[in-house]
Amino acid sequence: MRVDVVSIFPDYLSVLDLSLVGKARQRGLLDLRVHDLRDWTTDRHRTVDDTPFGGGAGMVMRPDVWGQAIDEVLGAGTGTRSEGAHLIVPTPSGEVFTQRHAESLASAEQLVFACGRYEGIDARVAEHYRSAGVTVHELSIGDYVLNGGEVASLVMIEAVARLIPGMVGNPDSLVEESHGAAGLLEYPVYTKPPSWADLEIPEVLLSGHHAKIERWRRDQALERTAARRPDMIEALDVAGLDKHDLKLLAELGWVPGADGGGLTRA
Ligand code: SAM
Repeated sequence: MRVDVVSIFPDYLSVLDLSLVGKARQRGLLDLRVHDLRDWTTDRHRTVDDTPFGGGAGMVMRPDVWGQAIDEVLGAGTGTRSEGAHLIVPTPSGEVFTQRHAESLASAEQLVFACGRYEGIDARVAEHYRSAGVTVHELSIGDYVLNGGEVASLVMIEAVARLIPGMVGNPDSLVEESHGAAGLLEYPVYTKPPSWADLEIPEVLLSGHHAKIERWRRDQALERTAARRPDMIEALDVAGLDKHDLKLLAELGWVPGADGGGLTRA
């Protein structure tokens, strides 16, 4: 996969040299390029922003500079533009980024991240590339406001990159994770020593009884999700729950809805 990140603070992205993403770059699994937006400015001051039409506080990033940058990283005009390119515009006013977005973006040929600053990027940029046939995603990483799109891009790049085949050493570790196909949070995990700070690990984990361990983990995942993320319990597909799941959920105050769809509070 090729990933391009355009920012006025390219150094902010230097952490992409580290850890799994850094290794994936070294191993050639990820062709990741960071660009300085100011390289596409034409004036002496390397200006990327201007005052907002209609007035108001702050500055808005200019569409012409962004257009030059995005055209070049997409290979537009050179005949090399990849059909599978996605333009990602991080913005607090976007759809909230989830594991489903990460899964779908993991098979893209090219991802281009446009990191906004100030009051954001002129809205015509997303509109223009959408009408030019590029898949554009305006995505938020949560209901809060950051100073720029760099951190949001890092979050999304890491979430997507770990799903690329060959990235994570043991792909089984991706199967039971929070927000996976089961629609639950992950159960609590423990390692050595078995006793620490007067806390013991649950005995079942030492039993070697795989079926019991699996059931315990499933129960923990259901209990944890019910306590922390009732919205995820509501969204569970009842058809994917066994008798034991339903009994536990009933004890936790959740029953299948009358319409046979999701779960509701008893
Ligand atoms: N005026 C904008 C608004 O109210 O929607 C906020 C602009 S914010 C100060 C500057 C930049 O930070 C945005 O253009 C975006 O790139 C990034 N940003 C801030 N919060 C974000 C979030 N929750 N998710 C994704 N990007 C975010």
